[in-house]
Amino acid sequence: MQNSVQSRPTNREASSRRTFLKWLGASSAISLLPTSTPQASSGKPPTRIPTATGEIFSDQMGITSVHEHIPLPSNPAQREKSLAFAIDELKKAKTLGLQTIIDVGPTEDVVGIREVAQATGVNVVCCTGFYVLKDDQQSMTVEDFETHMRRQIEEGIQGTQIRPGVIKVATRRLPITPAEKNLFIAAARIQQRYHLPICTHAVSGCAEQQRILEAAGADLTHCYFSHIEATFGWEGRSVEQEIDYLQAVVEKGSTLSFNNFGNWNHTKPEDLALIIRELTNRGYDDRMVVTIDFTWSMENGNIKILWGDTNADGNDRTYSYPIRKVVPWLKEQGIPNRSITRFMKDNPERLFTW
Ligand SMILES: [Zn+2]
Repeated sequence: MQNSVQSRPTNREASSRRTFLKWLGASSAISLLPTSTPQASSGKPPTRIPTATGEIFSDQMGITSVHEHIPLPSNPAQREKSLAFAIDELKKAKTLGLQTIIDVGPTEDVVGIREVAQATGVNVVCCTGFYVLKDDQQSMTVEDFETHMRRQIEEGIQGTQIRPGVIKVATRRLPITPAEKNLFIAAARIQQRYHLPICTHAVSGCAEQQRILEAAGADLTHCYFSHIEATFGWEGRSVEQEIDYLQAVVEKGSTLSFNNFGNWNHTKPEDLALIIRELTNRGYDDRMVVTIDFTWSMENGNIKILWGDTNADGNDRTYSYPIRKVVPWLKEQGIPNRSITRFMKDNPERLFTW
């Protein structure tokens, strides 16, 4: 299974793509997708991508969210609950057209992730790398980080044959610590060797992160920066200044990953709309992606969706939210269908095509 490549899209996949297009309000599937697809991977042949259930080709990713999570606690009862919840929510999203998610939470339960992928038919790409470093990881060297990632890529994650398809790295805040810098240098080296995209947790300082990656030889066109729209990470810049700051990052070829749709406590809706509209108008709709960063924890034995308690739309912000709510919202903000298709299909595909 692991070494086999999944077959070409089935009728069911084609029909879920039509469902997404229905949400887009496109008059016909044919009018929208073919015009944008060839440009997506710059005419490169499709790349093989490892997922939890075997390899797919990058042109089979379809509607994709490149920043999601499937958190699975180790406690057996809680794990069961989380598994059932993840399966349920992913199935709903799949019905609407979601075909692939990138799980950018370094997991301790890759077997559980495979179970979710098998039960839903959604392609789940796993990651290697690190979230915000813990205190005892602050002394790690470039070689330490490289060794960990190289092992997972070459040997599989947790004794399985499941290989990661993306590298996750994070910084907590500015200034970037020496260990965080080591992590980014290691990620750049691993990327050069294995050709995997790099996903960063940025909030603050994505340009600073990009400088480290660039100096270490990363291919910036295969790097994407997350949470860059969170206002508390702007270091005092106005939204207009922030747009210029972000433009400098996309000018170097990197991609911005937005996830605060409906999470208006972290970014005002008018600011998020302005950032996306302005960068689209300046010609960078091939450098943005839409995600929801869906995750949860367990509280008193119950699922607690992150930010679910602080937003009007909180508990509705699940895997299907981008298709159900973000697509119509983007259209209301004047973003053309063609750009929305890029955010949700072409740009993810390009990030994963080498
Ligand atoms: Zn995340």
